[in-house]
Formats: sequence, C-alpha cells, structure tokens
Amino acid sequence: MRDFVETWVERNREELIRVSDSVWEAAELGLVERKSAAVSQEYLRSQGFSVETGVGNMETAFVATWGKGKPVIGFLGEFDALPGLSNAPVPYPSPLGKNKPGHGCGHNLLGAAAMGGAIALKAFAEANGLEGTVKYYGTPAEESSFGKTWMVKAGAFDDADIVLTWHPGSTNGTDKTSSLADLVYKFDFYGKTAHAAGDPWNGRSALDAVELMNDGIERMREHIRPDSRIHYVITRGGGAPNVVPDYAQNFFDIRAKDMEELDRMWQWVEQIAKGAAMMTQTRVEPRFLGGAANLILNDVIIDTFQEILEELGPVQWTAEELEFAGKMQAQFDRHLIEQSIEQLRKQIPDLRETRLCSVIMPGDPEEKPGRGSTDVADVSWVVPTGQFRTACYTLGIPGHSWGVTACGGMSIGHKGMLLAAKTLGIAGARFLTDPGLRQAAWDEFKKRLNGKTYRSPIPEGIDTPPLPFEE
Ligand SMILES: [Zn+2]
Repeated sequence: MRDFVETWVERNREELIRVSDSVWEAAELGLVERKSAAVSQEYLRSQGFSVETGVGNMETAFVATWGKGKPVIGFLGEFDALPGLSNAPVPYPSPLGKNKPGHGCGHNLLGAAAMGGAIALKAFAEANGLEGTVKYYGTPAEESSFGKTWMVKAGAFDDADIVLTWHPGSTNGTDKTSSLADLVYKFDFYGKTAHAAGDPWNGRSALDAVELMNDGIERMREHIRPDSRIHYVITRGGGAPNVVPDYAQNFFDIRAKDMEELDRMWQWVEQIAKGAAMMTQTRVEPRFLGGAANLILNDVIIDTFQEILEELGPVQWTAEELEFAGKMQAQFDRHLIEQSIEQLRKQIPDLRETRLCSVIMPGDPEEKPGRGSTDVADVSWVVPTGQFRTACYTLGIPGHSWGVTACGGMSIGHKGMLLAAKTLGIAGARFLTDPGLRQAAWDEFKKRLNGKTYRSPIPEGIDTPPLPFEE
C-alpha cells in the first residue's frame, strides 16, 4: 500500500501543486474563501468525489465523498489565509499589496495535501476493490471563526470512523501536545457623542468603557489559572480626540485548558464588560465569533503517522532551496533562530543542516499542555482524530509570518506538502484495511474521554458564524 500511495502522489504531483498554488494566489480570508473552495471542489469532483456545499451554514464549507458503507475515513483540509501576510515567493519581505492577505500559516498546502491523501486512498480502495467511504472535509476559517466547530455542530462528522490531518511546520514529525479551549468574542460598546471640549457633559464615551473593561480584565488576570490566557485588541476606539466616541470595540480571545474552566472565565469576562458599561452609562453587546474545544490526543493515530514518516524519510532539499532558507533566516532575529535550533539539538544532538529540516524528529516521549487553540479539537471530541507535521518552511522562523507565506508558494512548501499527502494516504490505507487498528484508536478515544461528552463552545441559538473580518 505504501508503494501504491507513493506512486499515486508522484504521478499527481503537478495537479496537487496546481491546487496548492491556486489557493496560495487567491489568499482569501475566513468564510470568504470562494475561489479556494471552488478550485478544491472542482479537483475533487474531477477525481470522482461528490460534493456537498454550504455545510454548517457556511458558504465555503464542504464535504466531498467517495465510496459507500463503513468504514468512513476522513481527511481535514483548510484553505483560509491571514490578513496582511502576503509575500512573493522570495527569501525577503516583499508584500504583494498593502494589507493583502497571505498564507502565513500554510493552509494552501494543508488543503492540497489532505486532498492528495484522500484521493490516493480512493484510488487504492478502487484498485483493490475495498469496501468503505473516503471523505474530504473542506473546513473554512480555521484562523478566525473555527469553521470545524460549526461543521461538528451540523453533524458533518457523525458517521466518521477515523479523521486524519496534518499541519505545515518547520520540521517533520508528530507531537503529543494538546490545545486550549478558546472563545472569540467582540464587544461593541455604544455611548453618546458630543464635542469633547464644547459640551462633554452631554457625551458618554464608548472608549472609556473599553478601557475600563480591559482594566477589569487586568485585575481578573491575577486570579486565573496559570495555563489560561486572555488577550485583546481595541479594534475601534473613536476617530478624533475632540469627539466623544459613541462607538468602540474590543476584540477578545479567552482560553483555558477545558470548556468547564473556560465557562467560569467567560462568566467573569461578561460581568466585567457589563460593569464597564454600567460605570460609563454606555451599552455593551457581546458578539460570539467562534470557539474551539481542547484537543483530545490519540496515540494510536499519532504513532501511526510517526511510523510512516520514519519509513518515508525526510524531504531532500536542493542546494538552491537550502540557500533560499539561509537567506530567509538572515532576515529574522538571529537570537530567535538560534534558540529554536538549540531546541532541536536537544532532541537530535548531531543535527547538521540548520536551514531546512532534513530529518524526521523523534516522537514526543511525553504529553505537553497546549498553548494555542485549533478547531481540529472539536473534531477530536466526536471521532478519533490525529495529526502530524512536515517541513514546509525555513527552520527557526516564526509561524504566521511572511516567511511561511513565501515558502508555501515555492518548491520548499510543495515538497513538504507532497510528503504530507503520502503520509496521509498511507495512514488512510492502514486504517481502512485494519479493523484492529481502528478499534485501538476507538478504545483510546473512549479511555481519554472517560465518559465525558462533547459540549459545543457555540452558544445556544446561534447556527451561523458571523463574518470575522467585516468592516
Ligand atoms: Zn494553521
């Protein structure tokens, strides 16, 4: 099965690169990834999949299906970009337009490789007359609205037996890191405008309310658990100092190790917002934008990925690619780059190539608590789900940076994407053909949930995510 999948991916590499590059060029933000979704759907249809669109009340969310009956092997793909991170595929900052979005998290590669894995598995099943269903989930707005959470709520994963995915990284490997549950909210404050010098007594400042809310949050911060996080930006604060702002907006991420702790934090945050409005005689409207649960790890799937990566071996880089990465490193803070290479040396003492990852990192010996959040987590609560990473960008550079965008639009990203497609396809074939392996993944899933059931972070009564980047 390994040969079959490897050969399939190699034969279809140009097509996969074409899809990845089209999504990279389109670089669309969450929930408006129309071109990216269309390119992906077209490709999947051309490969014999049927496509259901508009899943979870999101125009760009879709599920592509091939085959019938059990088991159902699913692949998660993403395709949203990040604001302001466009960059030409060159080793120095070269934005393609002012504030133009770019694939600074490599989701163009993520989607293309997951499609490659799904279609390779379909070809394998077809060639061997195997029973089962292959699904590709086109999941929008990972960066902003947590699209998968809305798809889970809509029941898109109810029939799935195993869900596989990956994420572009700077190294090849797997990790046993969970993620934090996250609530994303905007708070709109409404006051009364007035001339700030002429008749300020007639005004009520919405900006005052925003500032008091944030002050309250800073007092709250002392009393939250050390693994919880709260961060905010003021997205609207008025237009001129001589006008009392009648409108201001606060934008929040609230994170905790699980939904129970997050609930407790949310209640307090909401009280602070209301208190700030009361103190300033303004009005506040909290607006839910998205949420994600904490990730449920699955060792059976993670170890399967690790084994396959070790069998396949790392990407081989050309002298030009290594030179490109070296030049890119010179654009970033040297200390940061050295620090992250030092981290790698702790695992691989004789690491020689430090521009692009040329090894498969060993698996994590122990679990680590997560710091970030992902909507893969919500899928992991309803079906055994696992992920891995491959080297798609320069070692040591930060995620969500122009450097990730640049590498994702050229051969470095393409090569990492193709390795990921092979790994996903082979893992899919193993889970499709080995009921014992599927059972082991389910046993672990049940053990980890320990009787707990998934509770969606989406509040009651909301079915449609609001556009995250509205003006
Ligand atoms: Zn990402």
